[in-house]
Amino acid sequence: GTAEVPVLETRDLAVHYGGIKAVDGISMSLRPGLISGIIGPNGSGKSTLVAALTRLTHLTRGEIYSAGERYDHLPPGKIAGLGIARTFQTVRLLPELTVAENVMLGNDSVAEGGLRGLAGLRGRLGRRSRSANPVVEEALERTGLDAFRDALPGDLSYGTQRRVEIARAIAMRPRLLLLDEPTAGMNQAERGEISRLMMQLRDEGLAQLLIEHDVQMMLDTCDHIFAMAQGRLLTEGRPKDVVGDERVQEAYLGK
Ligand code: ADP
Ligand code: MG
Repeated sequence: GTAEVPVLETRDLAVHYGGIKAVDGISMSLRPGLISGIIGPNGSGKSTLVAALTRLTHLTRGEIYSAGERYDHLPPGKIAGLGIARTFQTVRLLPELTVAENVMLGNDSVAEGGLRGLAGLRGRLGRRSRSANPVVEEALERTGLDAFRDALPGDLSYGTQRRVEIARAIAMRPRLLLLDEPTAGMNQAERGEISRLMMQLRDEGLAQLLIEHDVQMMLDTCDHIFAMAQGRLLTEGRPKDVVGDERVQEAYLGK
């Protein structure tokens, strides 16, 4: 047939930490242009899966493909080059840089393991920020951060800091955006804003993978949902079917 190439695919992916099978044989395909979601109880392996996809953890076994190209041998610094961007479950902004500077930086340096010399960053940014970067300006505008461009992260609400992370990821012009609990610490209105932003990006063709505890937000936002428990896929499909699935309910309620 005319099957489309998945934007991302895993085959029998596993990440074990000693005896802990955090991810244990996940085979999944993400279709282009959709918002896919992962639900699952705490500790079911969602963040570890994202760490595996972005090569921030070792693989015990399995394969990962981006647009049909196997990439699991690549180091984390090469993942952005595949068009894959992410936000982290915990906010990772550089506290001494402004919102605009954090967005401009992209998330390469964060993915590579934290703060390089701040002086070096300032030097690189200083050169680049002399003329406004249109990609950064667009990212700030789309995430509603124009008014905060010169603020430091520490002066912002937690919800706004999370939006800076999304802006930073969007500024990388990715093909696929991975969002690990992007609305943690946000109120209902802020969650609605993130949901609308994601759907707008989806309508512009950006594939996204969302991890979220708020089941209602998942139902409202996702086109397709994967349910995980204990490192494995329980089921996948249309959001309401997955959320209503007996095995999913049991995994959540711990019956
Ligand atoms: P989730 O994001 O679904 O809450 P995680 O992927 O964070 O789940 O965790 C899955 C399991 O793997 C948990 O038992 C967790 O304690 C364990 N785990 C995650 N990261 C590590 C690590 N770096 N070393 C050891 N165990 C880990
Ligand atoms: Mg997690």
